Amino acid sequence: MLETPHPTPSAPELDCFALARQMSGLHFIGGRYMPAIGGKNFAVVNPATGEQVASAAEGDAADVDAAVRDAARAQKEWAKMPARKRGALVHQCAAVIREHQEELARLIALETGKALRTESRVEAGTVADILEFFGGLGSELKGESVPFAPNVLSVTVREPLGVVGAIIPWNVPMLLMALKVAPALVAGNTVVVKSAEEAPLAVLRICELMNRVLPAGAFNMVSGMGPECGAPLVEHPLVRKVTFTGSVETGKIVAKAASQKLIPVTLELGGKSPMIVFQDCDFAKTVAGALTSMRFTRQGQSCTAASRIYVERPIFDAFVAEMKKAVDLMVMGDPLDEKTDIGTIISEGQFEKVQGFIDEGKKTAGATAHECSAMPKDSALKKGLFIRPVIFTGLDGSSRLVREEIFGPVTVIQPFDDAEAVLAEANDSEYGLAASLWTNNLKVGLDLAHRLEAGLVQINQNLVVQANLSYGGVKSSGLGKEASLEAMLEHFTHKKTIMVNMA
Ligand code: ADP
Repeated sequence: MLETPHPTPSAPELDCFALARQMSGLHFIGGRYMPAIGGKNFAVVNPATGEQVASAAEGDAADVDAAVRDAARAQKEWAKMPARKRGALVHQCAAVIREHQEELARLIALETGKALRTESRVEAGTVADILEFFGGLGSELKGESVPFAPNVLSVTVREPLGVVGAIIPWNVPMLLMALKVAPALVAGNTVVVKSAEEAPLAVLRICELMNRVLPAGAFNMVSGMGPECGAPLVEHPLVRKVTFTGSVETGKIVAKAASQKLIPVTLELGGKSPMIVFQDCDFAKTVAGALTSMRFTRQGQSCTAASRIYVERPIFDAFVAEMKKAVDLMVMGDPLDEKTDIGTIISEGQFEKVQGFIDEGKKTAGATAHECSAMPKDSALKKGLFIRPVIFTGLDGSSRLVREEIFGPVTVIQPFDDAEAVLAEANDSEYGLAASLWTNNLKVGLDLAHRLEAGLVQINQNLVVQANLSYGGVKSSGLGKEASLEAMLEHFTHKKTIMVNMA
């Protein structure tokens, strides 16, 4: 349904540099690309080289207003469409995304510095999977019949909320956007997404690709800064639901603004996820599991990264040695190179922040920093935001590195002697997003799984978010769930009661 002509090619474009240039300076509103009303742009930088690869439209309240009004107009017709038909269209979007999977993977690798083979391709594939999953759920938007009186038919129906404002971060922007857009659309809402400053391109291309299938105005995208573009989206009177993924501080600002309008808000915030390793675990599998759990292939930029690992003392030294050996084998380099396992940190600001934590850890008395892997040698990457992964030992629970979310390739490994004590340490956190337990004693594992304060606890695995499994944290890690049928029903619809007196 897309209007033409467009600055971007209809066939997949594998030259991500060319595509980035073509996408410069644009929002996607009402079924077409549009420049920022105020004419302002900001730079999109390749963090592997420090070079500007594109510019992005710098939106403000005027752009947000245009997008929300188009979304509100489109929502009336969209909500009238049978739910299964809406689902079928979202499912059809998945096919378009699959055709463009490699293109999207290259584009996201370029703007975020995430390695193509280990991260970016996987993320692009997951987007299609999420669209397929939610696309199949149209017929699940069921209500109930409620016993009231013999001559009164009393039923509930699920209705959409209206225009949804979705605000996303830069770490897995395509996936996190899909988790919001797909259920919102299938439930009959229309959406305006505000992309993250650091990664506006791949999500914009996805918006355009999905608009080839969806009616104009159903899915809109604006880019810009948080306070100037994100805040007006939350505050816009026609936005009837906000779904946000980002930091705890910004989440609180968003929740406060939403509360002024009395609209529902879903928040996916940070994490400081513990991994608890018992001596009876399958050692080799646990080392391999820890390697993926630390999310070092994403430079640790993950809310569910196992950023504090507790290992039962008899196997502590062997575990640390094996982890160091395994991380040393990981290749740091150009995110677009197939050989690369670990790419770059997203931005200079994050680079300084992560480096600050590492410097603080190194200065802490009794701490050892096991720096792993090797910096890339390629001179083209000399300005790249590369940080060698670090495994810290000798830090205790009072360290900022154990308490705060670093969002970098840093893990602290600590020994423990007693299951109750390690449970108390794991729960002694402001966060409660995810946790994992590694043991062959399922009695102990299940007992601790029930008592860990986290939205997701896994035993002998630590997978990232999966379609069909509710995902969301407790405590400062957030409010509400994503990724599941229950999330779609609870967070993107309201239940209306209808009563018919037949007496
Ligand atoms: P990070 O520190 O990881 O960038 P943020 O929480 O600041 O995390 O950003 C997540 C998203 O929230 C981004 O899209 C950002 O632009 C947006 N954002 C930042 N400040 C605000 C705000 N005041 N209102 C709405 N959105 C905001």
